[in-house]
Parts: sequence; C-alpha cells; structure tokens
Amino acid sequence: MLGRVEVSDSDIMDAISAVEGETLELLSRLVEAPTTLGNEEPGQVIMSEAFRDLLGLEPVDVAMDAEALRAHPGSAPFSWDVSGKRNVVADWPTAGTGGRSLVLQGHIDVVGPAAEKLWRTPPFQAVRDGDWLYGRGSGDMKAGLAAGVGAVLGLRRLGLAPLAPVQLQSVVEEECGGNGALQCVLSGLRPDAAVIPEPYPGFIPTTQVGVLWFDVDIAGTPTHVADAQDGFNAIEASFAVVKELHALEDELNEGAPPPFDDVPHPINFNVGVVSGGDWASTVAAECTLSCRIAHYPGTPVTELQRRVEDAVARSASASPYLAAHPPAVRYDGFACEGSHLAEDQPIVQALAASWEAVTGTPAGIGPTTATTDVRTYIAAGIPAACIGPRAERIHGVDERVFVPSVMQTAQVLALLVRDWCGLA
Ligand SMILES: [Zn+2]
Repeated sequence: MLGRVEVSDSDIMDAISAVEGETLELLSRLVEAPTTLGNEEPGQVIMSEAFRDLLGLEPVDVAMDAEALRAHPGSAPFSWDVSGKRNVVADWPTAGTGGRSLVLQGHIDVVGPAAEKLWRTPPFQAVRDGDWLYGRGSGDMKAGLAAGVGAVLGLRRLGLAPLAPVQLQSVVEEECGGNGALQCVLSGLRPDAAVIPEPYPGFIPTTQVGVLWFDVDIAGTPTHVADAQDGFNAIEASFAVVKELHALEDELNEGAPPPFDDVPHPINFNVGVVSGGDWASTVAAECTLSCRIAHYPGTPVTELQRRVEDAVARSASASPYLAAHPPAVRYDGFACEGSHLAEDQPIVQALAASWEAVTGTPAGIGPTTATTDVRTYIAAGIPAACIGPRAERIHGVDERVFVPSVMQTAQVLALLVRDWCGLA
C-alpha cells in the first residue's frame, strides 16, 4: 500500500486533456446508440466495454429486479417489462486507505427525438460542428457518462488510484422514474457521496422538485358523427380535464416555499402524450392523457396524487355524462418527492471547489424545476449532487453539448476524486 500523493491541478488537468480523443470518441458512440426506454442495452454494452477496455476495470451487472423494486416504497410504478435490463457498474480498486468513497453515476437512457423531422441532423447521429456536438442525449447525459470515464482514464494514465473506493455506475430508467438508480442503491453500496454530471454547468441544484407521472383515461360513447348527439366524444371531454389540471398548476405556483419563491414558475404541468379515437367520422370512444406535474420537497407523493384526482373529479362534475362515467387516474412512472441537500454538505463544497479550480468561476447553488437521480441516493442517506457540461435544448430538437465543457467536466471530476478520495 502506498501513501497519499499530492498531484497538482495542472498535472491532472493536462492528463485529462490528453485523453480528449478517447473521451469524445466514447461520447459519439454513446450518442449513436438510440437508448430510449426499453432500448438501453446497446448503450450498456458500450459502457461495459469502456469500463473494461479503456479503464481496465471489471464491469458488473446490477440487473433490474421487478419484484425487489416494487417492494421498495421509493420506487416508481412501472407497467413495462424490466426483465433482462441491467445497470452496469465498475469498481476502481483502491491503492491505499483513508479518503472518502464515491460513486460517479450517469444515466444511459435518453428521451425520444420529439419530432425527428425538425432536427437539422438525424437525432441519433453524433454530428460535430465547431465546438458543439449534436445528437439526442449528447448533453443529457452521455457527455456526463463520457466525462466520468475520461476522468478515471486520465488519472489511471498518471499511474494513480484512489485511496477510497470509487464506483462508476451507468444506470437505466432515469428519464421515466429512477428505478435504475434505486436498483444500484438496493445493491447495498453506501458510498460517502454520489456525484452525477447532469448538464448543470456551474450550478449545483441542491433543491429539486418531486415529479409525478399519471395517465387520465376518459371513456366516451362512439357513434357515427351523423348521430353525434347520441354519442359522447372522449377526446373533446379531455379539454376540460386539461384546463382543471392547469388550474392545479397555478395553485401550486402561487404558494411557492423557499427557495422556489425566487423561481418565476417552479411547478410545470405538461400533457406529453394524447392518444384516443380511431376514425374521423366516429365520435371518439376513448382518450388517454399522459401527464407530468411537479411539487415541492417535503410534500408526500400521496398528497399530490390526491390533488390530481380532485382536479380530474372537478372537471368531470360539470358534465352529467362524465359524472356518471368518471375519468380514471392511473400512475405509471415518476412518483417521487422533491429532494434537498444542505449547501454546507462536504460533497457540495468539494464539487464547487473543483468546479472553480477548473473554470475559474464560482459554482452557483440553488433550486431546479426538474428532478434527477440524486434524490434516490439522498433518500438512502448518501449525500449526492450534480454539476456537469453545458448543453442546450435537452428533450427538444437539435440537442447539443459544448465540447470544451465535456472535458472541463472530466477535469472537475478528476480533481474531485483527488480531493475527496485521495490518490496514491
Ligand atoms: Zn438527465
């Protein structure tokens, strides 16, 4: 066993710059794997290879276990099959003792292209244009995954290893509920901290909203449109439901507690998918709205569910038909509370210091109107925080990441490993 060695910021930053080629090559390969929900495996194959072939580590599968997930109170409900799905993790063997242990996590799953025809280049091609790399998932968050690998690669090329255990994790299902991260927590590992390089450049979102996904099923009565008065159109009935849910959103935004009282519109409600009807000349028999709404930390999910159900019931009460055939609310996907980590937590301070050392600019700390996997670690007693590359139009069209910020993120993570874990 070796003692702790001191390595300068500039030596580490140079070592990371020297692995830019491999890091960006990995990022491009990841972007070109269209790892939407249910299709994560090609991405996990690439990450597994990177852990083994680039880093010389032993990748280990953390398989998704539907029964274990459903038995956990913090899991998100899911209607889809998770059998055969895996998270991939790799432990970086320690070269000494002392220091604090760390998980570096990223999610391999991405959202769909939204509208492929609106993209300037195909969403699942990694296209470099100057300092920007385009492609779905480039920023959210394959750049973060690649940066984590780049950080470890650069340090290993210097012949260094951590004094305390470091585990790299590539998880599934962050974009739909967070059960991949939960499965990793269920594996029993309890590091001193977890860091997730989501695209929050220069900002550590220590307070995050909770998110709820729900479907509203509305039933109508189909008839020929010539006899429309004898039927009931489920699609048109959904308009009143949406209106009432936006009223709930307004209510939630009015009473924003700190630190969200400084955020212009902290709670966003969205109807993301509408499905229903089957013929232009048939009164629509059914309609389903797939929705997302948020709430503040400290509110139980059950309370938000009750408010959603009340809003849907209010919209139905205005129609005698819907009062007799009430829309049903189902839960599938995100069902999480908001999260908060105190600003003075050592991992927040260490991450902020690493960011400033690399970029020369202090990191901000505050609330975000989104959620990330940090909440799952925090709920398990593991302090967890995000900071990462500069990305634009995540979940939109022409998503892109600023390439220099990918390498800066790798440098930030490498300095963090030095200062948090110690190196030998
Ligand atoms: Zn993300």
